[in-house]
Amino acid sequence: MRSLLCGAERNRKQRKNGNINELEKVLIWKAFLPDYFFDRVWDITEEDISAIGVKLFLLDLDNTLSEHNGKVPCVEAVEWLQKLNGLGVDAVIVSNNTASRVKAFADLLNLSYVCKAHKPFPGGFKAVIRRFGYSCAEVAVVGDQIYTDVLGGNLSKLKTILVRPIKPESGLFLWLKRLLEEPVLHKIKTMRRE
Ligand SMILES: [Mg+2]
Repeated sequence: MRSLLCGAERNRKQRKNGNINELEKVLIWKAFLPDYFFDRVWDITEEDISAIGVKLFLLDLDNTLSEHNGKVPCVEAVEWLQKLNGLGVDAVIVSNNTASRVKAFADLLNLSYVCKAHKPFPGGFKAVIRRFGYSCAEVAVVGDQIYTDVLGGNLSKLKTILVRPIKPESGLFLWLKRLLEEPVLHKIKTMRRE
């Protein structure tokens, strides 16, 4: 207890001086960094699935399975989901979008779904995991956004896979979101080079 108090006191003083200690830096980065990075969800191969040990994918919808506000899923995504089915790997759509949008895709792809999931809050992810009964180590969150998909997966202690957006979105809000992702994307690029 004494050493914890000393550590807290030291951290307080460092913050006062504008410093963040190394452990805090690691913890902050860890929340935003994905475990894996792929260009597209359909680039995740059978070998990758087996190496990562995934039994259930929690899939984002917009810009992961379909273009942002696209009317249909990408053909490659449909084929990849069929492969998953053949491998006996489960998949559920977990999206922050509305029921009317998410249900149409889920019906088309014959998948279960959670809409208005409020990612990055873990509630939506946890509800699905409870239903399927897998351990956290067997579940991977896949999505194109750091502050919803990756952060939400990390907060839920699941494996996280970041994919590149299928098509850049238009609109000021989405542009700002992408701008805020830049420091994390830069960190990922640096780590991949190391
Ligand atoms: Mg998305």
